[in-house]
Amino acid sequence: MDRDDARKCETSQPSLAEAGALLTIDLSALRENYRLLKSHLGATRCAGVVKADGYGLGAAEVAKALLAEGCDTFFVAHLGEGLTLRAVLSDGPEIYILNGTPPGAEAEAAAADLITIANSLEQLAAWAAAARALGRKLPVALQVDSGMSRLGMMPGEVETLARNPGLLEGVEVRLVMSHLACADEPEHPANAAQKKAFDLLRSLLPAAPASLTNSSGIFLGPDYHYDLARPGAALYGINPTPGKPNPMREVIRLSAKVIQTRTLEADIGVGYGHTFRTTGPLRAATISLGYADGWHRRAAAGAFFNGVRLPFVGRVSMDSIIIDISALPEGALKAGDLVEMIGSHQTVDDVAGHAGTIGYEVLTGLGHRFHRIYEGG
Ligand SMILES: *Cc1c(COP(=O)(O)O)cnc(C)c1O
Repeated sequence: MDRDDARKCETSQPSLAEAGALLTIDLSALRENYRLLKSHLGATRCAGVVKADGYGLGAAEVAKALLAEGCDTFFVAHLGEGLTLRAVLSDGPEIYILNGTPPGAEAEAAAADLITIANSLEQLAAWAAAARALGRKLPVALQVDSGMSRLGMMPGEVETLARNPGLLEGVEVRLVMSHLACADEPEHPANAAQKKAFDLLRSLLPAAPASLTNSSGIFLGPDYHYDLARPGAALYGINPTPGKPNPMREVIRLSAKVIQTRTLEADIGVGYGHTFRTTGPLRAATISLGYADGWHRRAAAGAFFNGVRLPFVGRVSMDSIIIDISALPEGALKAGDLVEMIGSHQTVDDVAGHAGTIGYEVLTGLGHRFHRIYEGG
């Protein structure tokens, strides 16, 4: 990268003056969340899952903050994410590729010291072949399917592997892992069933550190912790115990700029499709955030200003939303002011609830034209 490219990278986000909205990411809250999860884990090591650009918050900044807390193990989904993260973290921390390495890219992954997760005998064979070609042992994680039916070796494959230990020639099994389908529902019988299947499948494989749990699974108790936990969502403030108070700290704040204000007369149609009509005079503001910023069209929520809730009126547009500001004193809100969209009054999980989705989708859907500020790094 030459100096011009480097400068472009630094300036690739709009300034606050140029942007329509401000996204603040509180890295000290993230670090506190990591410490809280660790406090539940006892001797179990705690990794950081930073796939999808750190759930939308910036994998580089997130991983560096976790590294400062002593986290030395990271998970990403794709090889490309792993290569980018390796460049950020330099040598040392372990980086696992959840989806495994695409066929033909094994040497590239190994050269960056990434650890592939073999989800099938096919992925394992390709990784072992790459190790033999390189003439050195390569670390590997074996994922077994304990009942989610998404990724990992099926029980039949694990039995084949148990009968043919030669399939592991050239690799060193660093981790045996699986993933829970229903960890956010503590009463769900699938949790105990998956744990039992995991223990059985593990017993067929060479002894290695084990990993089963995501964020929610940490709260299922020590039986589910094994040697390494893999939280993502909870680090970013999403409630790992839905239906109970959120033990995590909120990590992001999103504020949108007011573009203009106006007073509407009674019986006026507002926004696309005129889905809202005024019933009396209404003071309105139009704010600079829309579905192109990842604000779900269905999330008809409110904005907040000085703690006052300002409900949306009409449909969410691509780049703007109209809000009812009648609850504020006249002149209290002006063009250029910021209203809170996500923060202390309305959490990521609240917004997800309004949209009929989950906090994961709200975070990973956050747009790319905000001005971003990282606090407490
Ligand atoms: C995404 C993912 C995680 C992290 O899950 P959270 O629910 O965000 O904590 C852990 N393990 C695997 C295999 C994953 O795909």
